[in-house]
Amino acid sequence: MMQAQGELGSLQQSMLVQRENVRIFGIENFMYRQYRSKLQKSRDAFLRFVKAYSFQLPLGGVMGVLPQLFLFGGGGWLVSRNRISLPDLLSYIVLAEPFSAFLVNMFSSFQSMRSAFAGARRLMEIWELPEERTGGAAFEIDDGAALVWIRNVSFSYGAGDAQKDSEPSQRPFGLRDMNLTIGAGEKIALVGPSGAGKSTVLKLLEGMYPPESGSIALAGHDYGEWSLDALRRQIVMAPQDPVLFPGDILSNIILSPESGISQEAAMKAAELAEIGDLARENRSIGQGARELSQGQRQRIGLARAFARGARLMLLDEPFSAIESDVAEKLQARVLACDAAVVQVTHRLAGMERFDRICVMQEGRVIDAGTHAELLARSELYRRLIDAGEAK
Ligand code: ATP
Repeated sequence: MMQAQGELGSLQQSMLVQRENVRIFGIENFMYRQYRSKLQKSRDAFLRFVKAYSFQLPLGGVMGVLPQLFLFGGGGWLVSRNRISLPDLLSYIVLAEPFSAFLVNMFSSFQSMRSAFAGARRLMEIWELPEERTGGAAFEIDDGAALVWIRNVSFSYGAGDAQKDSEPSQRPFGLRDMNLTIGAGEKIALVGPSGAGKSTVLKLLEGMYPPESGSIALAGHDYGEWSLDALRRQIVMAPQDPVLFPGDILSNIILSPESGISQEAAMKAAELAEIGDLARENRSIGQGARELSQGQRQRIGLARAFARGARLMLLDEPFSAIESDVAEKLQARVLACDAAVVQVTHRLAGMERFDRICVMQEGRVIDAGTHAELLARSELYRRLIDAGEAK
């Protein structure tokens, strides 16, 4: 029973903590099926436990009266020796039981109330999250045309909740009046100082947040016109710290049968991401994937992105924990794939291989061009190169 409950708890935790990723990878139905099956398993184990326990109840009852027998026996002996009086013994017995029961109950009620309040608070946080929109359509993508348009997009964190009534200039900014067109298959790097808004661009392209003003369109259709399911099939993200679910490496690449990714395709993607050896070992992954290094998790995240064959691949410092010779190989594979790539990068080596580099500062793209063009004209780019951190 403990094992079944442990598995259920572990899945529950992953689903709650990773709810953004469950949505982004479109695996809600798969997670729901897994949850139902684990719930049934846990219920069956519990029923088996109750059945077995019901035979032990008489024994439990005997054990329960043992302290009282001891009290009566020992107390009776003391009375017979005139050490205490009979009324004293009786009042002790009468008072002792409710008092100890009161103490035990008070302590356990206090513990249960504390965890009930903590659970309720967590539940309310999730309950209050806005529901995802439904509707929209899937559209054809013309390979000859530009893939994504970001038009006059501004976005500030907190605009949707507690800070929505505050002045926009008072909110922590994310992006300001940003414009960017991404061609089909184009390879773009985003560089800039820390806090410039690079990761925010990826989050908006991923559809995690809607822009506060302006629009983002894929294949000529605003994100809002797309069905979320169709949109998420076209866009994939390899983050710096990918989220893994309990299971094995291949199941973490496939994620759900609805993804349509076969075991062979997942293995091929694992090889491409240099994680094929571990995938062949059938290495199992537990809650939080603590048995894997960050570099191994990054490779699994990359394999997930390779396996999906999406049109737009977003990468947020995807090789930061991978040794440089392997990172070099992986970078070349990313740049050789058919998808358009937008990559936030700290690595300066090989910047000339990107079609375009966008230099960001304070939520804006302040310059864009090839490595050679930017070296010639952008002081900030040269500074980033000199400092050795194209963040
Ligand atoms: P880095 O190179 O350090 O990762 P970045 O260029 O990717 O930085 P972003 O992460 O996009 O920068 O952050 C842009 C601005 O938005 C920063 O001022 C940051 O503090 C703020 N910000 C980022 N994420 C959040 C969030 N979840 N809530 C509130 N503010 C945020």
